[in-house]
Amino acid sequence: MALSEFDLIRRYFSRGPRRPDAAIGIGDDGAVLRPPAGCELVVAMDTLVADVHFPATARATDVGHKALAVNLSDLAAMGAEAAWATLALTLPRPDPAWLEGFAAGFFALAAEHGVQLVGGDTTRGPLTVTVQAHGFIPAGRALGRAGARPGDVLLLSGTVGEAALALAAWRERRILPPAAAGCLERRWHRPSPRLALGRAARDWAHAAIDVSDGVAADLAHLLEASGVGARLELARLPLSAAARAAAAELGLGQEALWRLALSGGDDYELLLAVPPKRLEEALAAGRALGCPCTPIGALSAAPGLQLQRKDGTAFSLASPGYDHFRERQ
Ligand code: ADP
Ligand code: MG
Repeated sequence: MALSEFDLIRRYFSRGPRRPDAAIGIGDDGAVLRPPAGCELVVAMDTLVADVHFPATARATDVGHKALAVNLSDLAAMGAEAAWATLALTLPRPDPAWLEGFAAGFFALAAEHGVQLVGGDTTRGPLTVTVQAHGFIPAGRALGRAGARPGDVLLLSGTVGEAALALAAWRERRILPPAAAGCLERRWHRPSPRLALGRAARDWAHAAIDVSDGVAADLAHLLEASGVGARLELARLPLSAAARAAAAELGLGQEALWRLALSGGDDYELLLAVPPKRLEEALAAGRALGCPCTPIGALSAAPGLQLQRKDGTAFSLASPGYDHFRERQ
């Protein structure tokens, strides 16, 4: 290893935003951090393993972006303001070009959200990236999964299914039309954590979860935590023009596209349970923050998730994921 561990940390990771509330950052045995008075600390951690969570051939800058983004998405779902992050990096070898790309992606997103990297660990081994993000929230105001009530409207930010379509096309070695391909790949590799929306949602949402494993799976977590059920109207699922174009190109019919959008994952949008009397405010906040939200259903006292077509008939989501990719309709 030409580059010592110390040089590597100094060269690639001693950068990005500096915050006055980080009394000690990188370089000591531990970071010393000062959450504002009256705030609680929110902590989230996610690991990305090469060839499990991203292709080992993925662009380093995308890996750097995504490793931080997926953690910030968890903070967003809690309604937290992001502040600090730590990074555990396991590398097969210290490849300067890869490290430079990784750091560029990581710190561009960190700068966007004012997040300071305050420490970490660097080891040799199979490529694995673990990030822990730390944020704060006024005491008692965390959003969480458990507060949804029957009658709440189910709101979904942005659009879903693009990352799953990009993954499906990549696995099948299919070439998508360039305009759609660019959009889908951005959505897969460079998710945008919805931090501003999550913070705003503290004022009008009863509960929230970020969509990492697919709308159906993550909604099920929210329903279980809240002890409620839901009816979701498939025709309302927000699907982008790029997703529709890609689905057409891949020969996926409407129902196959719904399946993919519901069970594909990697969307990093927010699912929010909003009382009807706050719905207008929620929709206006989404628009104002450049992150429009779509009502996709409603919560019920009866448990379970009902998926409904426009004509009212029930839709069943058999086994999830890209198993359905070859389905033709
Ligand atoms: P120690 O041996 O005391 O655990 P290390 O030698 O592992 O310390 O790390 C030295 C300093 O560099 C620490 O402040 C640590 O938090 C930081 N650090 C190590 N690896 C990373 C990394 N990948 N990103 C950011 N900071 C790191
Ligand atoms: Mg030490």
